[in-house]
Amino acid sequence: SLNFTCQVTGSPTPDVRWRTQNLTSQFYTQEQFWGSTLDLVLILTNVSSMDNLHNLTCEAENQAGPQEKMVQLDIEFPVKIIYLRNAEQQHHWCIPFAVDGNPEPEISWLYNGASFTLTRYAYMQLIPDSLDGSVKHGCLFFNKPTHVNNGFYTLVARNRLGGANATAEGMFMNNPFGPSDPEGLIPGEASTKSEMDVTENLENRVFVVSVAVGLALFACTFLLILLVVINKCGRHSKFGIHRSSVLGTGDDLAVSLRFLNFGTSPPSSDEDSGLSSFVENPQYFCGIIKDKDMCVQHIKRQDIVLKWELGEGAFGKVYLAECANLSPDTDKMLVAIKTLKDATESTRQDFQREAELLTVLQHQHIVRFYGVCTDGEPLAMVFEYMRHGDLNRFLRAHGPDARILDESHTPPLGQLTLPQMLQIAAQIASGMVYLASLHFVHRDLATRNCLVGEGLVVKIGDFGMSRDIYSTDYYRVGGRTMLPIRWMPPESIMYRKFTTESDIWSFGVVLWEIFTYGKQPWYQLSNSEAIECITQGRELERPRTCPKEIYLLMQGCWQREPQQRMVIKDIHSRLLALVKNPPVYLDILG
Ligand code: AMP
Repeated sequence: SLNFTCQVTGSPTPDVRWRTQNLTSQFYTQEQFWGSTLDLVLILTNVSSMDNLHNLTCEAENQAGPQEKMVQLDIEFPVKIIYLRNAEQQHHWCIPFAVDGNPEPEISWLYNGASFTLTRYAYMQLIPDSLDGSVKHGCLFFNKPTHVNNGFYTLVARNRLGGANATAEGMFMNNPFGPSDPEGLIPGEASTKSEMDVTENLENRVFVVSVAVGLALFACTFLLILLVVINKCGRHSKFGIHRSSVLGTGDDLAVSLRFLNFGTSPPSSDEDSGLSSFVENPQYFCGIIKDKDMCVQHIKRQDIVLKWELGEGAFGKVYLAECANLSPDTDKMLVAIKTLKDATESTRQDFQREAELLTVLQHQHIVRFYGVCTDGEPLAMVFEYMRHGDLNRFLRAHGPDARILDESHTPPLGQLTLPQMLQIAAQIASGMVYLASLHFVHRDLATRNCLVGEGLVVKIGDFGMSRDIYSTDYYRVGGRTMLPIRWMPPESIMYRKFTTESDIWSFGVVLWEIFTYGKQPWYQLSNSEAIECITQGRELERPRTCPKEIYLLMQGCWQREPQQRMVIKDIHSRLLALVKNPPVYLDILG
């Protein structure tokens, strides 16, 4: 019980009352007169914690005027949890809760019954609500959670009078690696398997090993026969690859770089002589380049912990992940994981082929490929993580329209300068010099297929997978074939001819993209109008901030006759010279 005395005096004697409308506790009042003063005592019985922070007001009034005085209730009570709901997606994912207690409760969390440390990816925020007394509303927020964060979250709240806890579920995403995955991405999951499963797995593995040994014997026999055939036919055999000329030392290796393209790239005349010769060449399964054997590295699923989604390509989702045991000198590394959804037998074969090609390509301006993860579904490829994502988005975010395009409403990082643009172009050219030296034809060179890392490092990072988000950059012909027509020279549009020279044309368009801060080439035209312009020989206009020297380079890439186009080595050297000595450019249009 609590007693509150309101002592009043006045002439004539005032009327006195306690304002009790919003009180939850039971109460009664008593009056006592002391000469000219009056005590009005309010007695709260069995005080309710609901009245904590209530402003208890006493009003008194006579003919001469009113007066009131107030006292705030400070009622101590043990913690109670008012609600805790399962995770729901608001702007961020949130597990909403409300707790009450006086003294103020201390809040902590358990994850699946074990202690849980808050980080900047899973953090708690209290949301002030002045209308709700001492009740504390809040959220356990999650920044881009994945299936690794799925589980039960227990809110533990306590003060010196007592505590309470409640549990809610966070189901953020289905495990993209599938529930049947024997090792799983979450370490320790495997230990819950029964012994029978383990024996079954062992039997399966014995079977798989037997099949693999059989296949290996078959491959060896095939290799022997093939070597005899190659020796007989010389360099111009159907397979075209001599052991000493594997991967790009022979001119007949005009290989189309179709990796990670999973069947969406256009059919072309050089497809037979290029890619399929690799498929039929057993040496290809472990590439040999500069006399070094290179085999695809396999990364264990249990070494990968997904963090969040980075994007989605035509073939599956891309995740940021942490990967252990990738290199001897670092414990864990951030990587980008590209998954292959709904793998069929043929996409699996493509996957294997692409992985082998990627393993062979090693250059400071080609995104680094670490290996594959094939134990379980989905199949995944592991790449170095490029912090700033794709170059097209990066250019737009650092151009004059950055403020309009910026979805996060954070201030733009500042406009790219001419030396920076030249630096970006020179790095892509360097990657292209390397690809051309291997006689690889990219077919889809565009800023959307380049990635930007720390310190403005740019690498060619994608070989035809960004077709979903950038679908307007492609022109669908027939069923599934999508063509990046705005980046293609007339001979590729008209005859589907893709060569090192057609890559040069695309490089010219990439230069144009860089100097327009990521505009779409021929943005003012429809696909069919763009095709008409390109095949009629019209050129993209000189971007406003583009110095004459650079536009001359672009025009050197856009010669109608493929043989008259500049060669990538010369373009690269010219760009390097311009990086060292940038032209002075006066934007006379202001
Ligand atoms: P893709 O399927 O390659 O088109 O990738 C989809 C999106 O994921 C791209 O637009 C990039 O923003 C992002 N992404 C792909 N690869 C990487 C990487 N290695 N590092 C960082 N982000 C990447």
